[in-house]
Amino acid sequence: MNRPVKEIVAYCQGIFEDLHFTRAREWKAARPGRKVIGYMPVYVPREILHAAGMLPLGILGGGADLEVIHGDAYYQSYICRIPRSTVELAVTGRLDFVDGMLFPSICDVIRNLSGIWQLLFKDKYVRYFDAPQNFRDEVGGVFYSNELREFKEGIEKLSGREITDAEIRRSIAVYNENRLWVNKVYDFRAAFPWKAPSAEVYLLMRAGMVLPAEEHTALMREYLDAAEAENRPMRDNCRVVLTGVFCEQPPLNLIKSLEISGCYIVDDDLLLVSRWLLSEVPTDGDPIENLSQAFLHHSAQTAAKYEADPAQKGSYLIDAIRRRNADGVIFAAPSFCDPALLDQPMMVSRLEALKIPYITMQYAENSGQMQPIREQSGTFADSIKLWGAA
Ligand code: SF4
Repeated sequence: MNRPVKEIVAYCQGIFEDLHFTRAREWKAARPGRKVIGYMPVYVPREILHAAGMLPLGILGGGADLEVIHGDAYYQSYICRIPRSTVELAVTGRLDFVDGMLFPSICDVIRNLSGIWQLLFKDKYVRYFDAPQNFRDEVGGVFYSNELREFKEGIEKLSGREITDAEIRRSIAVYNENRLWVNKVYDFRAAFPWKAPSAEVYLLMRAGMVLPAEEHTALMREYLDAAEAENRPMRDNCRVVLTGVFCEQPPLNLIKSLEISGCYIVDDDLLLVSRWLLSEVPTDGDPIENLSQAFLHHSAQTAAKYEADPAQKGSYLIDAIRRRNADGVIFAAPSFCDPALLDQPMMVSRLEALKIPYITMQYAENSGQMQPIREQSGTFADSIKLWGAA
């Protein structure tokens, strides 16, 4: 296929806006016995689901347009919005085709949501997917390998068949390829941000939360070809890293507003599941051990992962700033998000020591008023351009 950028992006936007997940429903209906497993941010090993012949489906809340009516009854007001809108998706039947849900251990809110899910949907497979906080092979490594094996056994029970090592190896290769192309898109945007606007890149990556990995990889290849061929005007924008956005998603308009107001996003921590592992996972040997080792020793050291060495806290962000030649950082955190907001002061102190400009802002997935965001990021961009610091 050789579609122009506009058509590819419109296709992705259609997937993004479809809160009934029609593409995933169609995938399931295409062959009897197929199963779809939902997962929340931030990371789950999708390779194991893929190896079982299942579709991993990223559930990232209800977005800007979903009216939350029932979801509020399950939570107090002083927490983020993603758990309420996710409950809303479920109790309104939008996830009725999903055979199971994974809740990764990112915070108490998600952990509690896994409990609520078990009470609400007693007939569905639900797993709180735990991750190690200790990265020594003989401690966290043993724990995480066991966690992966237990997860695999649960999925085998659900699918009614064994998942072989050869199948997991093949799926690891599929996701290695997918990550390769995700990284190519990110590299392309960092090199030519005017040719790959962040709202487009975001929609392209969101499509990867719904489509099978092979289809998503083909879509990214197609997008890159089309985006490279397109002539677009270069703006006099500064270059920023957007961070803190790894769980509840910022409204698409927020991403657009940042670029319109003068900030090219040259790296971010959005949709980390597709970039969590930083290097190729080996496709020989024990595939469970390989996934475990990749998580322990080759994964993104963002706010979403415990950093055992205080001296290394923030190094991942500093590396991204340097690698992407960024001028500054925008900390955007969902309101009441403990992992993002508790991390921020530690990151800020690293940036201040290095005199790297930054601003902070908060959002909810349904924040509607973008004018203050545009003013704040526009002033930030201008101050960088005029004085090299905010
Ligand atoms: S937005 Fe933050 S606090 Fe809310 S569920 Fe996600 S990680 Fe937890």
